[in-house]
Amino acid sequence: MASAPPDTSRPVFRFAPSPNGRLHLGHALSALTNEALARRFGGRLLLRIEDIDLTRCRPEFVEGIEEDLAWLSIRFEPGLRRQSTHFEDYAAALASLRRRGLIYPCFCSRQEIRNVVAVREAETGRLWPVDPDGAPLYPGLCKGLDPREAARRVGAGEPHVLRLDMAAAITASGQPLSYTVFDLEGGEHPVPVAPERWGDVVLARKDVPTSYHLAVTVDDALQGVTHVVRGRDLEAATDVHVLLQSLLGLPTPLYHFHRLLLDDEGQKLAKSRDSQSLAALRESGITAADIRQRLGFV
Ligand code: GLU
Repeated sequence: MASAPPDTSRPVFRFAPSPNGRLHLGHALSALTNEALARRFGGRLLLRIEDIDLTRCRPEFVEGIEEDLAWLSIRFEPGLRRQSTHFEDYAAALASLRRRGLIYPCFCSRQEIRNVVAVREAETGRLWPVDPDGAPLYPGLCKGLDPREAARRVGAGEPHVLRLDMAAAITASGQPLSYTVFDLEGGEHPVPVAPERWGDVVLARKDVPTSYHLAVTVDDALQGVTHVVRGRDLEAATDVHVLLQSLLGLPTPLYHFHRLLLDDEGQKLAKSRDSQSLAALRESGITAADIRQRLGFV
């Protein structure tokens, strides 16, 4: 039997994990917060698999995500979106930015960037500015390349990323941008953005024809997401997403940033830190009801 078409008048929420490891309690908190808010606002809940990183993402982790979310009894609308099958959507967005002269190819390696930053710090005696994640701002080396020379190097197959020309992008967006944060009680407040603190961000990687910032922005719009619920660790990145929405003529959803779970050392739970997975907790006898209770969802 064909399922009924989605009710487009309802708010749309999404949980968007990356299948590069097993989910941990921090993911459970994010998924359950999405579920609670979707229910509170009468919304639909979508699942999106953010698997653009073809070297780190693996099919068994997608299966693991589905297994863990089913165990937690979180119900998503059928029809999961996998980013790796939509590279053409991100290419279209890049083409639009390219036509407006807002992106440029960059051939620098991370090491080259670090070296240039070290030299400039030594010359000026001042620390080089870093982005909200602590990475040095791109020092603009390839921004000044003659466009014909850059095109020749791209044509010759030289590995490169595509960067957003942040200053030009902010000028092109034309207006001071902001977005709205919503809370559980239905309260809302505006937040001005400062995307310049990220510098010339990467919109397409060497190995992947997009980046987190671009794919998440394009997909939220294509999926009609109206309410983005994500951890506070992604609050600063939202500034880049709001700028991209403005440049690409896409709507800006409402945002809610939930707390982060910390481990005994006060560090955010993360796959890279081998935080205990939901699967391991399950195997140790912990129930889904225990998880819901522990995270404050009863
Ligand atoms: N895929 C991202 C992650 O797992 C989250 C996506 C988002 O909420 O923007 O951290």
